Amino acid sequence: MSDQVGTYRGRIAPSPTGYLHLGHARTFWTAQERARIHQGELILRNEDLDAARCKPVFVEAMLEDLRWFGLQWHEGPDCGGAYGPYVQSARPLAYQQALRHLLATGHIYSCYCSRQDVLRAASAPHPLDEEVIYPGTCRGGESDRQTRNEESYKDDQQSRRISWRFRVPDGEVISFNDGYFGQQEYIAGRDFGDFMIWRHDDIPAYQLAVVVDDAAMKITEVVRGSDLLVSTARQILLYRALAFKVPSFYHCPLVTDENGVRLAKRHASLSLRALREAGNDPDEVRRHWSVCCKV
Ligand code: GLU
Repeated sequence: MSDQVGTYRGRIAPSPTGYLHLGHARTFWTAQERARIHQGELILRNEDLDAARCKPVFVEAMLEDLRWFGLQWHEGPDCGGAYGPYVQSARPLAYQQALRHLLATGHIYSCYCSRQDVLRAASAPHPLDEEVIYPGTCRGGESDRQTRNEESYKDDQQSRRISWRFRVPDGEVISFNDGYFGQQEYIAGRDFGDFMIWRHDDIPAYQLAVVVDDAAMKITEVVRGSDLLVSTARQILLYRALAFKVPSFYHCPLVTDENGVRLAKRHASLSLRALREAGNDPDEVRRHWSVCCKV
């Protein structure tokens, strides 16, 4: 811990696709605690790239509910800071620049497969998270072999519904030491496959946007839910390819409901909004994390 005192920069990065729930609150609270004990800064970033799912009403609610819960950030969409904008939809140039770099260095290839194609062609082994392993249909194909440049990228993107995938180094062990879960190892090509970094609807995919932003915002430790452990391995490959410094990682166990089901935005009664409207006191909620839900 001492090496990060005073230089620590953590972040919370909600997506405004619904009301935040207790699971988010618990992870964000941990992020705030980690920033506090390291005497560092906490950054709030609005991850609103998916225009079809993100709604302005949830942006407002997110800020309000997080403040009600007792979260305080030093930089963010509402208060600014040196590394803004802190809203992903306002950062297209940063993502395009990274895409061009990956294109020029041969790390990515264009993919013409629809989601249905991928599901049909994919078979066991199953990955460790929900993303189906890409069967490699477009890897090494015509589009992969061509020398890519910016013009061909634009032509492709405009004329066809293509996405861009990162070519993972099959068989390589990607390891990192997680602040909570300890040593982690994932095998590229087995635990995760060639992942999407740019979507067919011409918006950056989560993996690329989050790496570009965490690097640009000088985040030193990423605190988030354990559902993203495998994604961390993907992201380490992106940090490498983009020559960015890899931050530390601290993944939090997920909060589940009384049936052991992981909380999601559909658990309306455990949304911060509902807890607040029902007259709960945030201090009490924090004292009883494990009473209202198993953790
Ligand atoms: N915006 C992502 C989410 O809400 C968080 C991603 C991250 O923390 O890396 O799931």
